[in-house]
Amino acid sequence: MDNSELKGWNHVPTLPLKVSPFFTWPLRPLDMLAWIWNSWFLITEKLIIVCIAIISFYWFQPPLSEIKTLAFGWIFEMYVRNMILMTTVAGGLHLYFYTFTKQGKKLRFDPRPLMKNGRQFTLGGQIKDNMFWTLASGVTIWTIYEVLMFWALANGYAPLLTWAAHPVWFIMMFLLIPIWESFYFYWIHRFLHIPFLYKHVHALHHRNINVGPWSGLSMHPVEHVIFLGSVMIHWIIAAHPVHILFHLQYYALTAATTHTGFEGVSIKDENRLVLGRFHHQMHHRYFECNYGSLEIPWDKFFGSFHDGTNEADKRMKERRKRMTGA
Ligand SMILES: [Zn+2]
Ligand SMILES: [Zn+2]
Repeated sequence: MDNSELKGWNHVPTLPLKVSPFFTWPLRPLDMLAWIWNSWFLITEKLIIVCIAIISFYWFQPPLSEIKTLAFGWIFEMYVRNMILMTTVAGGLHLYFYTFTKQGKKLRFDPRPLMKNGRQFTLGGQIKDNMFWTLASGVTIWTIYEVLMFWALANGYAPLLTWAAHPVWFIMMFLLIPIWESFYFYWIHRFLHIPFLYKHVHALHHRNINVGPWSGLSMHPVEHVIFLGSVMIHWIIAAHPVHILFHLQYYALTAATTHTGFEGVSIKDENRLVLGRFHHQMHHRYFECNYGSLEIPWDKFFGSFHDGTNEADKRMKERRKRMTGA
């Protein structure tokens, strides 16, 4: 197999990219344990977001009794909280990696700078464009879903899961939400690549050939409604308010972290906090590959997986030729 490096990248992770070991036969239990460990511990974005969800629930969330009736006050509080969260995460990463270039080019995938200008962008530049769509549309729709689900839980319209009644399920729900995300995201993302939807909706996200933290949630409002609509599963699957917070924070905040453009934060030459996903970074450059994530290998099942090697690159180019009929 040709595992030589692809051209045009400043940094690539260890190749070929590995998908979750839960879907290969024979099963390798040690690899499976290592996969769960690495994706959750010691310091990972998943665990950080569980903490953010718990802190939000205890200190920055109006009580369920108040939420029974829709009122401007508590909805506005949630909106401000989400604005602060998004700005802290995406803005913080942007300042660290791009404004103050704290890490130089270390672990950076694409060697090119983000585009300061560009006619394709709203407000005339990539960063302003990305911030606008993230904050004006993304955070607004995120908050609307949160309000809807909280209101439904408070009134008993959606099923409530409590720690007292189901402690095991309560913990499991945190593990299941990212797996559900991987499943849901792959399918809506393929759907968004149907030419009509791509042209009118998803192309906005794909203005970013090279990506930064603000690109992650920079989407057309219709895409926000579809993307964050994942949380509607809790009309059927019981959840606690803290799971609702986690679910939407996970979607919104990891959109920023996975688009960081860097594989992670490097401390003393080690990648201490995994952030960007090369898998998805390739989707932004090559389009017809890697619609999902590595958590459930849908791309592998359906032949759209690009593992970063030259061999996979050849396969993708042939696929692209077939699709365009050239
Ligand atoms: Zn896409
Ligand atoms: Zn993307």
